[in-house]
Amino acid sequence: MPAQPSRRKADTSPEYIQVKFDRPRPYRWSTGKYLGKVYKEAKENRKMVGNRCPKCKQILWPPLPVCGRCKVEAGEDWVELPQTGTVIQYTYLVFPMWDPHRGERWANPYPSAIIELDGCGVYHRYWLEETDKEKLKVGMRVQAVWKENEEELGEGMGDILYFRTIEEQGAR
Ligand SMILES: [Zn+2]
Repeated sequence: MPAQPSRRKADTSPEYIQVKFDRPRPYRWSTGKYLGKVYKEAKENRKMVGNRCPKCKQILWPPLPVCGRCKVEAGEDWVELPQTGTVIQYTYLVFPMWDPHRGERWANPYPSAIIELDGCGVYHRYWLEETDKEKLKVGMRVQAVWKENEEELGEGMGDILYFRTIEEQGAR
């Protein structure tokens, strides 16, 4: 309930009206050559891709037109990124967040982690499926899990639901 303005203040202050504006605003935007490749590969093949710098051979993620280290054009030497990796840091959130793209409350219960994808020098911040604090460990091995329903694909990296803990034979 709004505070009742004092009579004296009401005489001198402007009166504001409040208009509730509740309209969805769908929009289209061009993803460009490099990010567009990420969206296309995710949607059509459930793959992550980066581009390799011709000079230092590093894989750029997200893909970029220019290598930041070498200041040379990176070009389109596309490399498929591995779907498995190792958690090197994780964050277990106990409060809700807002989705910056949609303005909706994020009911995502999944902890986020920095995952070093296997053997490619690429780090990826993403959700973990595991929500049991006791089972979250630095060094745990994980694998990307993609949306199953084709109709829901099309959100680029958002097409990955989370990274699932994997059991492997033998110690790393
Ligand atoms: Zn480079």
